[in-house]
Amino acid sequence: MLATTTRIVLADPEAVLKPLCAHLVEHEAVVTDEDGAKMIRLDAARARLGLSATALDVSVEAPDIAALQAMKRAIASHVVEFAPKGEVPSIRWHGDGTGPALPADFRVLTVTGVETITPHMRRIRFRGESLARFDRIEALHVRLFIPPPGLGEPAWPMIGEDGLLALPPPEARPSIRKYTIREIDAAAGTLALDFVLHDDAGPGSAFAARAKAGDRIGMAGPGGRGLKIAERYIFLADETGLPAVARMLETLPRDAVGQVFIEVADAGEEQALSAPAGIAVTWLHRGAAAPGSLPLLQEAFAALDWPAEGPSVYLWAASEHGAFRDIRAAARGKLRPERDQHLIVSYWRSGVAEEQHTAAKKAEAGKG
Ligand SMILES: Cc1cc2nc3c(=O)[nH]c(=O)nc-3n(C[C@H](O)[C@H](O)[C@H](O)COP(=O)(O)OP(=O)(O)OC[C@H]3O[C@@H](n4cnc5c(N)ncnc54)[C@H](O)[C@@H]3O)c2cc1C
Repeated sequence: MLATTTRIVLADPEAVLKPLCAHLVEHEAVVTDEDGAKMIRLDAARARLGLSATALDVSVEAPDIAALQAMKRAIASHVVEFAPKGEVPSIRWHGDGTGPALPADFRVLTVTGVETITPHMRRIRFRGESLARFDRIEALHVRLFIPPPGLGEPAWPMIGEDGLLALPPPEARPSIRKYTIREIDAAAGTLALDFVLHDDAGPGSAFAARAKAGDRIGMAGPGGRGLKIAERYIFLADETGLPAVARMLETLPRDAVGQVFIEVADAGEEQALSAPAGIAVTWLHRGAAAPGSLPLLQEAFAALDWPAEGPSVYLWAASEHGAFRDIRAAARGKLRPERDQHLIVSYWRSGVAEEQHTAAKKAEAGKG
């Protein structure tokens, strides 16, 4: 067990403790009373928050550094949030995991090679340390931290001595973009990501276009939800979802059956996929039309047979926002709740950069 403590002096500690506990419950923590103190359980970590007239006395125990950091950050950020206006609490942790550190789920990756898979798909190979947590077929995607071009030494987000996440100054701050781990060999400390090279390149596409051996980016995660077992599989994706589809197809049982539809510009963007023999792969060509501007995936989905009585289905779809929205709406009329499972995701949104796309997704989720 790792252990750390802090004493946080506050004008009115009780006024901070109450909303802090209420909020942590919303974040799925379990809060109980014990000997006049609050006991908090958050994933594998435990915290004890004792109250005096002038301070909160906090002790945290956790089996690993990730859980320790998560609990410290949850407590410190809520103390700062609920301290009265004008009061800036001073927080210094003592014990294990103190001192500025990279977040436990963060790795620095160094480019080792760049391959052109198709004219608009670039595979970048990286070397990194302690990659085991990223080697999971049920959590395929990562957040990449891409430093501004031309910056000498990259600057990364760090957990400070107060347990809070501190971002580098704006001029050095990396851009955050989501990508899919296409290949990983954790024992060898290597992985590969496939980047779409698109017009109106943002930080992700521009990095892929200029990357060379020795360049560094950050990576945090992994995230996502895993492939579910079903009697029939349906995958729908544009080229941004292609790395995930390709990787999932490689892991399916060799007797799996189903259909895959992938939208790309033309035959030159098709890739050899290692799909089970019972999975039919159809490439949809949009030609010179802009990515995300044609309803090719929607039409493929609409044409699928979906008998009321039939094998259970797993539907996985990832695409531009418009296709995502249409497929999600159409799926509501097809999916049989008692038999079928699905994951339908917007991977990018035409005309807006990832920051606005993510903000819009959060706002939509907030509306329920
Ligand atoms: C979970 C997840 C996993 C993903 N995995 C991958 C992956 O493995 N490989 C991959 O290439 N992408 C992947 N994406 C999509 C990728 O994150 C977005 O395409 C992202 O917007 C690219 O960032 P950027 O900096 O290049 O462009 P941004 O700065 O985000 O956008 C700049 C402009 O480019 C446009 N744009 C963004 N993406 C595209 C595109 N594909 N085609 C045409 N125009 C585009 C935007 O609409 C905007 O106008 C994934 C997304 C998610 C959510």
